Amino acid sequence: MTILGATGSIGTSTVDLLRRAPGRYRVTALTARRDAGRLAALAREFGARLAVIADPNAYRELKDALAGSGIEAAAGREGLIAAATAPADVVVAAITGAAGLEPTLAALAPNRRVAIANKECLVCAGRLFMAKAETEGATVLPVDSEHNAVFQALAAGPREAVERVTLTASGGPFRTFPLERLKRVTVEEALKHPTWSMGAKVTIDSATLMNKGLELIEANHLFGLPPERLDVLVHPQSIVHALVTFHDGSVVAELSVADMRVPIAYCLAWPDRIDWQPPKLDLAALGSLSFERPDLERFPALALARGALEAGGAAPTVLNAANEIAVEAFLARRIDFPGIPALVEAVLAKAVSEGLAEPATVSEALAIDHVARSLCRGLLPEFAAKAS
Ligand code: NAD
Ligand code: MG
Repeated sequence: MTILGATGSIGTSTVDLLRRAPGRYRVTALTARRDAGRLAALAREFGARLAVIADPNAYRELKDALAGSGIEAAAGREGLIAAATAPADVVVAAITGAAGLEPTLAALAPNRRVAIANKECLVCAGRLFMAKAETEGATVLPVDSEHNAVFQALAAGPREAVERVTLTASGGPFRTFPLERLKRVTVEEALKHPTWSMGAKVTIDSATLMNKGLELIEANHLFGLPPERLDVLVHPQSIVHALVTFHDGSVVAELSVADMRVPIAYCLAWPDRIDWQPPKLDLAALGSLSFERPDLERFPALALARGALEAGGAAPTVLNAANEIAVEAFLARRIDFPGIPALVEAVLAKAVSEGLAEPATVSEALAIDHVARSLCRGLLPEFAAKAS
């Protein structure tokens, strides 16, 4: 197996599972953005054949750290593509953002399972990703907990009998905050997720609910379901991950503790299941599970994403790119929390006048991504001024 993004939160959970099933998997390639020390240590621990650092400036450090190990070192875009295409039965795609698009697409190969965590890749270029998976004969398995739950629940009946799919959302750390208070939330508060421990980008997306919006688009591509059959339900305990409603009135859900190792283990072992000694779900100890409708007024990002999904064309690609820049700007304390969806909305409005079509090729997706990022950077000073 190969892990693209081995040093991140999903990468670390994957590596933990490898340690719990010694000898079950052999590692082909591991990649990271710039933490050469961590990457080299992991490559040595698992006897990887190839270690790739995305940042070319860290290549020397990686090469030195691997000296005498016999592990090949590479860097940059070509290195990431080499890692993605090196022989492996399973590739875990766990890079954050549209930066993962090219390697994740390159990982699609005949008789291969691609366990996809990199949702931005599906939001940015979902149609072409799924089409390539189909022509290559690759199996796409969703790592994202909600989509993994949908994948498992869909097995309970024929596709024609599916009435709707509901993704749950924790509601994030600001679920109960009044609108007024959201203007003053800090980066530290936004980075404290109530139920999941994750990388910074997806944690901020969970706080704005943009994450759930991206996940609607992700579900649309993964399962070929139209927007009107996709719902979101807030469920603060993060135990029920998704529900599939069938025509006969049966609702099939998947439940587990909020631990990404559960869906990752499912993808690694599929169609088998492995006993990795998971933490047990104790419903009696939890006592109750609650559900509520999302509040689109306080969390407009969810409505923006649904709007982009319904509009189609280049809108989801633009939404994703703008959101990546907006989240970076919030983390850099340049804009306030409500500034994230406000900035994304402004970029979407501007992009409409560019009349961009849905990307049919990777280069088109990257071009739209580039245009949207530039538009967003152009609008940023105005939104930064509003926040200060
Ligand atoms: P993270 O930031 O913790 O890790 C990202 C990994 O990708 C790291 O190994 C990093 O070195 C690498 N990376 C980052 N930018 C890169 C670049 N420009 N080029 C090459 N490599 C790069 O992120 P994460 O939380 O592990 O999330 C990874 C993906 O999985 C995201 O798309 C996220 O939305 C999705 N996801 C994460 C979780 C979670 O629990 N963490 C849950 C569901 C979905
Ligand atoms: Mg999710």
